[in-house]
Amino acid sequence: MSMTMRQINRYLFPILIVAAVFLAVNRPKAFTPEERTIIRESDSVMYVTVLPDDSPVLRTPSADLTPAELKSKDLRTLMAKMLSTVKSPKQDGVGIAAPQVGIDKRVIWVQRFDKEGSPFECYLNPHLDSLSGPMGKGPEGCLSVPPMRGLVPRYTSVIVSYVDAETLQPKRDTVTGYTAVIFQHECDHLDGKLYIDRADTVFVSPAWAAERRAFDYTRPDWWPSGQE
Ligand code: ZN
Repeated sequence: MSMTMRQINRYLFPILIVAAVFLAVNRPKAFTPEERTIIRESDSVMYVTVLPDDSPVLRTPSADLTPAELKSKDLRTLMAKMLSTVKSPKQDGVGIAAPQVGIDKRVIWVQRFDKEGSPFECYLNPHLDSLSGPMGKGPEGCLSVPPMRGLVPRYTSVIVSYVDAETLQPKRDTVTGYTAVIFQHECDHLDGKLYIDRADTVFVSPAWAAERRAFDYTRPDWWPSGQE
């Protein structure tokens, strides 16, 4: 005695349907529905979050990308759009962190001034393992805190661990100089911190001040003289 096709189908279909529903429900989720909407529906140059309106997303510590997120197409879209955003003439930044485009996940782009041609490189799940060297104080600005600048004390050498964007393998790198400052600034973003929390002095951007000065003859004495 053997089962006819009809009998097999009678049992097989319900099993397949149950299995399909189970897999769909338990499929690891990559990004929240809100995050997916931002990633998919934003222009290639994304809206940049700014104080004070976007304080919640800028001040919330970012989560590591999950294994499902690391392998997702949405992450590739997010990376490409973040790069277009930081390089856009309007922003013209040297680094950007995902909270600055409304996503509280550990993704940053850093311009590597310590490498030939100063390429932008993406780091997934970056964490600063070590901060060392003498501290230096330099001017910093932030796409999310226009039009201010601040003098911020930073370490001159950092060790960053991260997931390589191409191979998805864990990696470590030692970075020094100005590029180390960018890593500290961007990793601060992922911890919900902004440079103004660390700055000794915060002042108006000289470029913006110069523009204002042309119109405003009653400028206060504390406005910067134009050096950066
Ligand atoms: Zn910033």
